[in-house]
Amino acid sequence: MQDKPLNLVWMRRDLRLHDHAALHHALKGPGVIQPVFVFDTEILARFANPLDRRLTFLAQVMLDLDSELRARGGGMLVLHGPATEVMPRLAQALGAAQLVAAADIEGPTRARDASVAQVLSGITKMSLVKDAWIRHGGAVNKKDGTPYHVFTPYAKAWRATLTPEDLAERVVEDKGRYAHVAALRAKAYAAGLRVLDLSQGLEALLEQIGFKKADITHWGTREGEARLHRFVETRLKNYSHDRNMLAEDGTSRLSPYLRHGLVSVRECARLAWDRPGAEGWVNELIWRDFYAMILYHYPETATEEFLPKFRRTLNWRRVEADFEAWKAGRTGYPVVDAAMRQMQEIGWMHNRARMIVASFLCKHLRIDWRLGEEHFAQHLMDYDLASNAGGWQWAASTGTDAQPYFRVFNPTTQGEKFDPEGEYVRRYVPELGAMKGKKVHQPWGDAARGSYPAPIVDHASARAEALRMFKEVA
Ligand SMILES: Cc1cc2nc3c(=O)[nH]c(=O)nc-3n(C[C@H](O)[C@H](O)[C@H](O)COP(=O)(O)OP(=O)(O)OC[C@H]3O[C@@H](n4cnc5c(N)ncnc54)[C@H](O)[C@@H]3O)c2cc1C
Repeated sequence: MQDKPLNLVWMRRDLRLHDHAALHHALKGPGVIQPVFVFDTEILARFANPLDRRLTFLAQVMLDLDSELRARGGGMLVLHGPATEVMPRLAQALGAAQLVAAADIEGPTRARDASVAQVLSGITKMSLVKDAWIRHGGAVNKKDGTPYHVFTPYAKAWRATLTPEDLAERVVEDKGRYAHVAALRAKAYAAGLRVLDLSQGLEALLEQIGFKKADITHWGTREGEARLHRFVETRLKNYSHDRNMLAEDGTSRLSPYLRHGLVSVRECARLAWDRPGAEGWVNELIWRDFYAMILYHYPETATEEFLPKFRRTLNWRRVEADFEAWKAGRTGYPVVDAAMRQMQEIGWMHNRARMIVASFLCKHLRIDWRLGEEHFAQHLMDYDLASNAGGWQWAASTGTDAQPYFRVFNPTTQGEKFDPEGEYVRRYVPELGAMKGKKVHQPWGDAARGSYPAPIVDHASARAEALRMFKEVA
């Protein structure tokens, strides 16, 4: 078996075995295939919390993939170490003919892939295919070939130039095509690579990478497909209205599954396409492509303002106590606090709530959007650099948004509009549990608010100060 050419499939944002561009590509040629995942120590170093939910989620996904692959005659090969070194060493130790992976758009990841390809040049062919976005980085451009900076014309061009191939399933016909995984694990181990043992279960796997088991009850690793089907069949038709209502389960909550590729974004679009409500939802998938396109063309916008006039010119405040109150969900603005506590509790926050809390941090507290971006990066199950930096810059008015900086959300009226019965606030802010209806959005001065804090800033004066800060440099 091992005499046949070996095709390694390096999985990253595509942790599934169906509609899979890299597997599809590897299976087109001769020989056997072997899926590989690396717990990259350079990425793990950024996870501050040993109980990070995402590592439990990923470790469980590895066990799931391994068991699915065993049923198909293969198994997962999971390694631990700096991927830039591990992958070339693995490919050489196993004498791989080809290394296939899905291309990324993030600057450091592209640099990592280029370095791996360079080390392997002349030894193992490295092939990058497209999988994680429907339209990749450079696929949709203006007529003059330059990138779009505004979403609406981008979305129009995205739809006008979409071809059936963009949404087509990348079929995985893998029967009898897997390499002998035990032999490959032994060879990799003999070459000095850190091959992780998947046979002892979740906690043992996490221990091998220095993490502990966290609560992921809200995010079943095998639920992605069922969630997608349920959403498309029951919720999609009302999406355009329900998507803004904070207490409703009106959105798909597929973002962690899309982030790690447990569901295929092409399948999302295919399933939704002709159904009532699809236009609004597909628009969100286009937003996902849009922010990925922006980061692809402008990698510096991960940390620098997209609009040159605001690049490091805004006079942000540095008030630790305010930042801590925002993080802890103790700002005295119920909808802001409910949202921040939702993220702490389940590792996810409603989109409307993300817009409200991000606006509150940047405008009401005048705290640098980069600090908020980093806080989200530590807590969101769906954390994705392109969408997060894009969303934060949108809220800070420093990004691609066509709206001027004087949009400042009023957190009280936002709460009253998008949580009219106050259910969302009561769910996450138990101190306000006794208050009825929408009164919960203005609890100040009411004895029933108990230990709930008074507002840390006054809306009207905070708004005026924010406008002054922007006007100074606009
Ligand atoms: C400040 C801020 C930070 C954000 N950070 C992230 C992040 O780190 N990761 C992330 O995936 N999304 C991020 N978003 C976008 C959005 O909030 C989430 O994608 C959405 O809430 C996920 O919920 P859902 O799966 O139910 O979405 P649905 O409404 O069901 O949408 C379907 C899918 O479309 C994509 N999507 C939806 N809205 C957006 C959007 N505005 N921008 C880009 N993609 C979108 C997501 O992949 C989502 O799963 C951020 C938004 C803001 C305002």
